[in-house]
Amino acid sequence: MKDGTQNLAINESNLHLLQKCDLFGLNDLHLVVYPKQGAKVHPQLIPALSALTQKATDAGFDMQIASGFRSFDRQLLIWNNKAHGLRPVLDQFEQPIDLHLLSDDEKVFAILQWSALPGASRHHWGTDIDVYDASRMPAEYQLQLTLEETQDDGCCAEFHSWLAQELQQPEQDFFRPYIAGVGSISPEPWHLSYAPLARLFATQLTEDILRKKIQETDIALKDSILKNLSNIFNNYIKPYQ
Ligand SMILES: [Zn+2]
Repeated sequence: MKDGTQNLAINESNLHLLQKCDLFGLNDLHLVVYPKQGAKVHPQLIPALSALTQKATDAGFDMQIASGFRSFDRQLLIWNNKAHGLRPVLDQFEQPIDLHLLSDDEKVFAILQWSALPGASRHHWGTDIDVYDASRMPAEYQLQLTLEETQDDGCCAEFHSWLAQELQQPEQDFFRPYIAGVGSISPEPWHLSYAPLARLFATQLTEDILRKKIQETDIALKDSILKNLSNIFNNYIKPYQ
């Protein structure tokens, strides 16, 4: 697994790549559809992603992508629906929270437990994917992407145990950014990030750039977000850069 603090030199070819891409997921023109799965990812991921998928197959799993690129507008819809009570907001134990009992500031941090602020999602970059094992899923089962599924007798537990080992390999370019003990985001073992490219995007995302983007966006809880943005940046973004 790659060290989270590793610095990556931004050389000329990498800069060229970044100019074509979009930090906030405003367009997907530079992305490709990963064959047979429908998820959009950055083309630079394809060789490493194909190799990881094949290794999973060889180990007896069926690694599928639940989510790849997610646009700014999609993340904004998720955020606004959660803020307006149209989509459940879960606590750290994955139980629904009654938002009516919370102040606006508390609502912001409750949503952040499981959802990125629009503009700050790693899924905007096309470098990050959520994966699961389709081979052990019961028929009719609806994937939740919860910790429960990844542990004990959960349907993806065996796969995640294998994946944890695989990510330790020195040549592996994928890593799990959301692990226990880092930042304030709950652990998401299903979320993989392609280090060589994701780290370039991460270094571009500053508090100032994000503040400007939020200011110009019609987003629920905007005043509370802007008031708490330094805290949000330092605890939900910076620890993963
Ligand atoms: Zn994810």
